Amino acid sequence: MVPAPMKAPFRNIAIIAHVDHGKTTLVDRLLQTAGTFRSNQAVQERAMDSMDLEREKGITIKAKNASVHWNDLTINIVDTPGHADFGGEVERILKMVDGVLLLVDAADGPQAQTRFVLRKAIENGLKILVFINKIDRETANPAKVHDQVLELLLELNATEEQFNAPFLYGSAKNGIVLHEPDGEVHGFGELFDTIVKHVPAPEANVLDPFHMLVSNLDWSDYVGRIGVGKVIGGTVKVGDSIVCIHKDGRKERAKVSKLFTYAGMGTSETNEAVAGNIVGVAGFADVFIGETLCDSEERAALPSVEIDPPTIRMQFCVNDGPFAGKDGKYVTSRQVGDRLKRETRTNVSLKVEDTELSGTFDVSARGELQIAIIAETMRREGYEMLISRPEVIYRAGPNGEKHEPFENLWLEIPERNLGDTIQALAGRKGQITHMEHLHGRVLLEAVICTRGLIGFESWLTNTTSGEGICSHMFKEYAPVCGEIPSRNTGAIGSSDTGWTTVYALDTIQERGRMFVGAGEEVYEGMVIGENSRTEDLPANPTRMKPLTNMRASGSDKNVILEPATKMSLERCIEFISADEFVEATPNFLRLRKKVLDPTKRKRMNSKANL
Ligand code: GDP
Repeated sequence: MVPAPMKAPFRNIAIIAHVDHGKTTLVDRLLQTAGTFRSNQAVQERAMDSMDLEREKGITIKAKNASVHWNDLTINIVDTPGHADFGGEVERILKMVDGVLLLVDAADGPQAQTRFVLRKAIENGLKILVFINKIDRETANPAKVHDQVLELLLELNATEEQFNAPFLYGSAKNGIVLHEPDGEVHGFGELFDTIVKHVPAPEANVLDPFHMLVSNLDWSDYVGRIGVGKVIGGTVKVGDSIVCIHKDGRKERAKVSKLFTYAGMGTSETNEAVAGNIVGVAGFADVFIGETLCDSEERAALPSVEIDPPTIRMQFCVNDGPFAGKDGKYVTSRQVGDRLKRETRTNVSLKVEDTELSGTFDVSARGELQIAIIAETMRREGYEMLISRPEVIYRAGPNGEKHEPFENLWLEIPERNLGDTIQALAGRKGQITHMEHLHGRVLLEAVICTRGLIGFESWLTNTTSGEGICSHMFKEYAPVCGEIPSRNTGAIGSSDTGWTTVYALDTIQERGRMFVGAGEEVYEGMVIGENSRTEDLPANPTRMKPLTNMRASGSDKNVILEPATKMSLERCIEFISADEFVEATPNFLRLRKKVLDPTKRKRMNSKANL
């Protein structure tokens, strides 16, 4: 008798949580319960570093994968990124798992930002488990949150099985789990048992020949690029000669130099990886996402989720302004270039290229926010750089006509913002393809050119006070869709270098909105405000009050300056025009003209207008 194939001894789940709902605490608790300590301190510190930024933006930026052993099973817990620019990545991650754990704060309830990933999980037919955390909070209302989650599942078209998801209640901080809000109190082992019981083992047969799909990339300074994915069949050992079927159909043979599995919060080296596990394979210098690793040249490539092409480009340049090096630690072209290139090792949707101008790099990605996050991270690490306005990447169509990228856009907004949103979409040349009213919210689907999306998310967040959410995914390249109005105001540029004075700003502020307050250091060519009219306006914000013997009738005491507008990095990037830069240093965000000298600038502009 042939023995039935053994069930793979794994459970692979993805965790979906809004920032601050307790994911880190929960994962810590799981590791502790399983007796796995954080084996790799360095990984932990890196994860911690990115957390300020995550909290500010309300999205997960760095994934914090974890793995634990529980009753002879390995449970891999894969993190999901929480932002629209990473739509494709979410799809790939969800293809590796068989279930998701939705973690929700018992007081705050489910948050808009997690809806996109949850929707994808539902579409992928994954098993759903809900953990309502922080039931110890004074304002906790687990029964209400339970109903909110059910409503959400209904809205997102969950199947009956998904709708009947097991709910657990508890406190990650206090290490308790309950099946009912007022039920019997269990330890955290109960969460493991629930996962094991409800999430199916991966469909993977150890007896098959070895094959796996590369779903993610990792990097180690010792072995270089690592292809990460779920082993779909068979086993692979260090030293095995295996084949990589590249995207272009090329088949490359190489020896497996190292194998990694997840362990605790880090990875650990292993000699053998078996079907069902999520592992890292080193040995191919240019393995890429969506490629197949297998035992023989004879096999067909596995179907994969396409990686979307980069659609947005920005330039990162060395800070050549008069304040260069005053604030940051890393300012040279080499330092900025190396840091950007390091980012591309694992960030697959990012491309960094040298340009013919030394000290200028073209950075292409899936969205402006993705690039803004890299710039923000670099600033916090001590880098200084100049960043240009985002531009979409055009291509030539089949008959030489100009094509631009288009995206599918999903929006969920409160009903009261519907009018404004429809108007904004029309102005940005978006075509609404579907509209649905659901419990006071509206679900909108549209097709919009990527150009029209620039700055849209900031607009949406502002207009809906953070309640509107959007996600988008690349659709196609198609003929350009016409003019989209951009900023119709000019810049107020400083004509001098020095410190701003109340006296000078008092007159300048009548002309528009100011970006600098009194007592700030400015330089010639820096943009210190937004002119209400379309043209640029030079002004001297450093002018001192002339000294006189007479007592002036209107004294300084009466001067009231409007508070200066201070914008976030993303806002700055969206605001600037083509002839301007954002100067980003650890402690300052300044706007400036690309060419600081006004005479040179005039000469260049008149040349450009010929
Ligand atoms: P993450 O952003 O989702 O990773 O959230 P963290 O795990 O960092 O937790 C966010 C905050 O919630 C921290 O201050 C935690 O101490 C707190 N927290 C986590 N779990 C609980 C809980 O069960 N009860 C309470 N009251 N606070 C919790």
